[in-house]
Amino acid sequence: MVRFKADINGKWWINKLVEENNHELASPKERHLLRSHCSIHGKEAGFLQSMSKVGISWRQAEVDKDFMCNQKSATPTIQHSPLLNQAREVYTIKIYNIFQKLLVNGACGSRSNVISTIANTMIYSVGRFGDQKEYQVNFDSTSKDIKCTCKKFETVGLLCSHALRILLMMNVMVLSDRYIV
Ligand SMILES: [Zn+2]
Repeated sequence: MVRFKADINGKWWINKLVEENNHELASPKERHLLRSHCSIHGKEAGFLQSMSKVGISWRQAEVDKDFMCNQKSATPTIQHSPLLNQAREVYTIKIYNIFQKLLVNGACGSRSNVISTIANTMIYSVGRFGDQKEYQVNFDSTSKDIKCTCKKFETVGLLCSHALRILLMMNVMVLSDRYIV
């Protein structure tokens, strides 16, 4: 991440550089999910604060008043998917629809290969069909920890299609609480 500042003479200076914040830019569709874009004020802030006090995370309580994902209004593309059923319970409709798209893209629109296995960690390369770009996904079969080099989860708090593809391949059908924020 690089932050610039202009001085009184109109000269631009770099006033902040965080080298490890080097993930890809979020697409315009995902930009509203960025943590840095999540500032709210006044009444809404008070509402969210009161929700978090009773243990409901900001994402569960967020987005234009559609609040909890109503099970009847979120229609799953795939029937009998434990991951989608779980998503319907924990996400708002907006987030659920994004998650569903990521899951379908991971399952049907991606390719993956095992690169290597180190102890309990399996390392995969994952990419989209018709796109040469590849990401590396590390999956720990014991702890079920998963990490992708695209850093979508670290950026917007949702697992990427690459990680979801590997979870599906490994028959992990329910997300751990640590991946629901
Ligand atoms: Zn990824």
